[in-house]
Amino acid sequence: MSWVPVPEGSPFPLANLPLGIGRDGDGAQRAWVAIGDAALDLAAAQAEGWLDGTGAPAGCFGASSLNEYLAAGPATWSAVRARVTELLEDPSVERRLGAHVRPRADLVMGVPVAPADYVDFYSSIHHATNLGRLFRPDTEPLLANWRRIPVGYHGRCGTLVADGSEIHRPHGYRVVDGEPQVGPSRALDIELEVGTVVGVGSERGRPIPIGEAGRHLYGMCLVNDWSARDIQAFEYQPLGPFLGKSFATSVSPWLVSFEALAPFRIAAVRQDPPPADYLSTAEHWGFDLHLEVWFESAAMRDGGLPAVCISRTTFADMYWTPAQQLAHLTLNGASTRAGDLFASGTVSGPTPGSEGSLIELTWRGERPFELPDGTTRSFLLDGDCVELRGWAGSDPSTRIGLGSVGGTVVDRPAHPEED
Ligand code: CA
Repeated sequence: MSWVPVPEGSPFPLANLPLGIGRDGDGAQRAWVAIGDAALDLAAAQAEGWLDGTGAPAGCFGASSLNEYLAAGPATWSAVRARVTELLEDPSVERRLGAHVRPRADLVMGVPVAPADYVDFYSSIHHATNLGRLFRPDTEPLLANWRRIPVGYHGRCGTLVADGSEIHRPHGYRVVDGEPQVGPSRALDIELEVGTVVGVGSERGRPIPIGEAGRHLYGMCLVNDWSARDIQAFEYQPLGPFLGKSFATSVSPWLVSFEALAPFRIAAVRQDPPPADYLSTAEHWGFDLHLEVWFESAAMRDGGLPAVCISRTTFADMYWTPAQQLAHLTLNGASTRAGDLFASGTVSGPTPGSEGSLIELTWRGERPFELPDGTTRSFLLDGDCVELRGWAGSDPSTRIGLGSVGGTVVDRPAHPEED
């Protein structure tokens, strides 16, 4: 039991203790640990010596990202988690440490890490199959490489944005009435993804063996990889996604450690053909995560109508695991750094209502869905707000949350050279 009250059903019980970066009022950005509806100021706790002996570098929790802390490695992560647990369970420290506890609602949260590299994978077999059917009908939906390697590309770190950020509708070249024209995207979409964060980086020229992934990877968050399908369709060959993806990627504020996620590890799905040696491990790198997409239009907001859930899916049947993704992205000797982020790829299930993107959910606009405000959607309109939510475990008494990440689409001025 924690002396900070934890409401029943809270995503952040004592078993979770996710870390985030945020500020209260005019205070500086610094690290917090979430507990119930509150958060403990780790920078203040560290400054007063409460975290001495854990190995956390001096002042690391006063930084504007968790990078330096994550670089300290698994022994420190475990020691900090154990110390915070001990402190929150000890009523005798409440009087002194309680001064550093704030309601989470009073905090403005940022992106928890400052990645030097961000990779977007494509590891859901249901998503890859759906997109194959949409874009290459009458052929085998999965390309020849898909079951051999975790397919991915490098994304843009400079446009990773925090929960609650406005998403400016991107403009770019897209085909309208058979003619390529520059203008606002008419096919703005979401991608429901789970992000994995690197703690301990690696040197250039030294691939990370898959058996060592657990010493490098810190934890997970939610990622919405906003995508402009019409811009993407025009630009993506031969070099891959570019402006259709790079305008904004939302990252959830609370980073959940793999230590907290340990009870929710499961065997990954059987892979056929068997993966290459560098992608093979007996460790369980699947996770029993439940994910949802919630939708609210501007009219719903104005009319006081609650958001609606448009998709529910599971992370349990992802084909490629975070350990395989890390082993693959360093196979060529590419280095990694503390705070690096890689996203799972859109998480979709095999059944209607479990798709992680609107292009799948509406089958590229052929099957628009209805909203309580009487309108329908194929892709996002200005004012639409999308929130991803996730948690680990099925039993409400033991599950822990990944929290949520939301964003609202807004219009932006046209480029001067547009019509
Ligand atoms: Ca993606």
